[in-house]
Amino acid sequence: MCHDVGMTTDDVRARERALFSDAASRGVAYLASIRERRVSPDAAALARLIELGGPLPCDGDDPARVLALLDEVGSPATVASAGGRYFGFVQGGALPAARAANVLAAAWDQNAALRSMSPVATTLEDIALGWLRALFGLPDETAGAFVTGATMASFTCLAAARHAALARQGWHVEARGLRHAPDTPVIVGEEVHASVLRALALLGLGREEVVRVPTDEQGRMRASELPPLTASCIVCVQAGNVNTGSFDPVDRICDAARAAGAWVHVDGAFGLWAAASPSHAHLARGVAAADSWATDGHKWLNVPYDCGIALVRDPRALGSAMSLQAEYLPSGAEREPMQWTPDASRRARGVEVWAALRSLGQRGIAAMIEQNCRQAARLAQGLSQAGHRVLNDVALNQVLVAFDDAAHTMRVIEHIQQDGVCWCGGTVWKGITAMRVSVSSWATTDEDIEVSLAAMLDAAAATRESQ
Ligand SMILES: *Cc1c(COP(=O)(O)O)cnc(C)c1O
Repeated sequence: MCHDVGMTTDDVRARERALFSDAASRGVAYLASIRERRVSPDAAALARLIELGGPLPCDGDDPARVLALLDEVGSPATVASAGGRYFGFVQGGALPAARAANVLAAAWDQNAALRSMSPVATTLEDIALGWLRALFGLPDETAGAFVTGATMASFTCLAAARHAALARQGWHVEARGLRHAPDTPVIVGEEVHASVLRALALLGLGREEVVRVPTDEQGRMRASELPPLTASCIVCVQAGNVNTGSFDPVDRICDAARAAGAWVHVDGAFGLWAAASPSHAHLARGVAAADSWATDGHKWLNVPYDCGIALVRDPRALGSAMSLQAEYLPSGAEREPMQWTPDASRRARGVEVWAALRSLGQRGIAAMIEQNCRQAARLAQGLSQAGHRVLNDVALNQVLVAFDDAAHTMRVIEHIQQDGVCWCGGTVWKGITAMRVSVSSWATTDEDIEVSLAAMLDAAAATRESQ
């Protein structure tokens, strides 16, 4: 439905106003009930999803009815990751200021590709990038790009790394491709995140063409086992292992890379945020000496999906890797976002990052990180006191716990996901089947932790073999 015949501009505006207010009120109601509802949707809610489908209708529907259907069928089938008891993967919720900014930005509907398309979106990105550099202690010249997530952030950073490693050998990879290019050895840790391998695959560097450095029991690269490095090497380190939360010895690796002129890329999807907390910054020691950093906004900064951030020390490397020329595009002195990302048209991700940073300030960010780490430690303590095996050093926000045996651990996870009090996923760590608990949301209260711990202990007792 476009405009009903006979509707005046005033009528259209009044409908739009009512619809947007209705969306906001439904959002308010959803959030008001989130603490009372199951974390995972129940079978009845999932069964109703079919009502959203069917053939594409010939005639349109009233937008108010479309929204009502979305809320009535869609809202109950969401996973309550916006609440405080979702501990799956590494997710985070959305801070109030960031969510509200997201709603306002929906009204703006800005394209953040070019400054002329949205002066405000571009300016907010510039400001937010400056604040992030300061927060992580990165060099002033560091260039940045807002992308969809840490996967694309690593892709973007590694495209810059590929440019630099080949340019040093006199090869312009963006122009000439890889077919006849010289070698750029890539070094990763045995516990490299799969997204880095995907980025390498997309970049034509080959996910299997990597040198894998052995890791210790926490998944940290053993710096002493780094192969000899040269200026054409790209070393991918990890700040925050997705299972244990551990950090590669970034300082020692950067020292070795510096001496050789190699590029160091940091996958800091969530772990880089430790650098923003005085009590956890030691974990990320030396991280500022790297050449590029990938992190997420939608994990520990708690901004709405989707938001990843690529940061690159040498602006020329990133600019050369991403640059796009066409006669109708501006070529001024100011930063044009689309010249720094793989995308052209993009949503204005800087809006929520700016709002989150501005609403928390340095102290608020540190407090959020520290609260989640303290809560993870409390969960680990409660689980091990009850006799369950915590497999990792809980130095950050990740807990790995194993129950009696692999089968019992699987049953515990299943039980937790079904009963709906909280949500945890599984993994296999060094051959041991484990439950993963990631505490990454501003919304998680200490009470959420106690309620969830009790649910985990109940699940373990209820699924014991002898039962
Ligand atoms: C989550 C994660 C990624 C991928 O991030 P996306 O935002 O899902 O693309 C990469 N590395 C690590 C260590 C992660 O935790």
